[in-house]
Amino acid sequence: MQFMGHIKLHIPGPVEVSEKTFRAFCAPMIGHRGQGFKDLYATMQPQLQSLLYTKQLVYLSTSSAWGIMEGALRNLVAKKVLCCMCGAFSDKWLDVAKRCGKDAEGLRVDWGSPIRAEAIDAKLSTGEFDAITLIHNETSTGTMSPLAEIAALKVKYPDVMFIVDAVSSMTGTKIEFDTLGIDVLLAGTQKAFALPPGLTVFTCSPAALARASQQKDRGYYFDFIEFQKNAADSMTPSTPSISHFYALASKLEDIFAEGLDARFERHLTLANKTRNWATGHGFLLFPETGYESETLTCVSNGARHGGRVIDVAKFQKLVKDRGFLIDGGYGKIKGTTFRISNMGDETESSIQTLFSAMDDALSHLG
Ligand SMILES: *Cc1c(COP(=O)(O)O)cnc(C)c1O
Repeated sequence: MQFMGHIKLHIPGPVEVSEKTFRAFCAPMIGHRGQGFKDLYATMQPQLQSLLYTKQLVYLSTSSAWGIMEGALRNLVAKKVLCCMCGAFSDKWLDVAKRCGKDAEGLRVDWGSPIRAEAIDAKLSTGEFDAITLIHNETSTGTMSPLAEIAALKVKYPDVMFIVDAVSSMTGTKIEFDTLGIDVLLAGTQKAFALPPGLTVFTCSPAALARASQQKDRGYYFDFIEFQKNAADSMTPSTPSISHFYALASKLEDIFAEGLDARFERHLTLANKTRNWATGHGFLLFPETGYESETLTCVSNGARHGGRVIDVAKFQKLVKDRGFLIDGGYGKIKGTTFRISNMGDETESSIQTLFSAMDDALSHLG
């Protein structure tokens, strides 16, 4: 499949989708209550469990990630939620909690800083909260928070629901759901899965399901109990995007053919190369040192003191003229940062091709 005039995506979602995945996506429809569908989901279930390092059922929601991000609040917050905020997506989660009518408070750090366990501990020790929201990999700033250290707090606060967005890190880096002991882990498929947007993969702890079952106003479409009951029979509560199921089955084949560790290693290697490209050209990285994302690179273009500064809009246009779309910065750091994704199917050779285009674009900036 050649798409005339297609600009290859190196933005942090949606990312480039392979031909094989598109072919799978285009398979004919089947009934979602029939054996064929159940077999399709049942075949994927153990693969999804391996991917998330869990014995719990893995659920598939026909929605973008925000559906389950909002759903998690509706299912799990009875008292008050602490929203850890370090960038555009995590900041938004507080707003969404309020829109759902939840009592919510923000734990704010500067963009580019990670969320630290000590700060969460100090807040939870007040006893006010029964849930926290955390974004593992804050895509707007390219910053990864120390999930294992944060999850270790769960032992001290067993009644607090730990809701974790791994939208731009799931499948790109190892996240062991059962070992971490967190309560919800979710990701949309247009990021490191490299599928088209519109599907969310998530799982819940038994404690999360117990909490959800007590919640009166959890709605229907994102009711975790409905997901659990249906998934036990290899089905979904409502008619899913069956095309996404085909695409996911195809992608899981790819993922396990490569091997999980090799996949995580590949993402880290490509992120390192991208960081080196940036620093090698005189730029600073935006995230605090030691907390850089492994699936994308957020380059500082004046957002941090020092380092090279260019006309990002012009650079982005020159790169686009060469066939690649990179991101010109998100939210309040648009223009003072730019972002390059290495999520999904990228290889050393494909990322090198991007670097060549960026080198050429830089030399034409004037
Ligand atoms: C992309 C992204 C989202 C939002 O996903 P939608 O698909 O737009 O719902 C949420 N969180 C993170 C970390 C993201 O990268």
